[in-house]
Amino acid sequence: MAGTAETPANTTIFGRILRGEIPCDQVYADEQCLAFRDVAPQAPVHILVIPREHVVNLAEAEQQHEQLLGHLLLVAAKVARQEGLEAFRTVINSGAEAGQTVFHLHVHVIGGRPLAWPPG
Ligand code: AMP
Repeated sequence: MAGTAETPANTTIFGRILRGEIPCDQVYADEQCLAFRDVAPQAPVHILVIPREHVVNLAEAEQQHEQLLGHLLLVAAKVARQEGLEAFRTVINSGAEAGQTVFHLHVHVIGGRPLAWPPG
């Protein structure tokens, strides 16, 4: 499901952040996306990159989102560079069973400590 950018229909916490209803610790913004620090960081650097358009998750993304998805990954690399990370992990949880808790697509950028593999 794709929604209109920043509309009240996006009742998720990230929709509220995009509308300026609640604050965030912003590290990057452009016309397509916003990046801010995760409120419960799992590593010294933990940033979320979210599209302004309300896309529920990767499973719900459509062909029309091809450019946007590429942009989110390039911004993820940009903010990692901005944070001085030489190594980092990107994670996109899609669906509750995969750990998704906020149903507005987001890319986690995690780094600043050694990261184990495989993840839990
Ligand atoms: P996920 O579990 O993949 O859906 O990730 C959602 C992430 O959003 C979690 O890591 C939360 O800590 C983070 N989060 C929830 N609310 C906020 C908020 N208000 N500001 C920043 N990060 C948040």
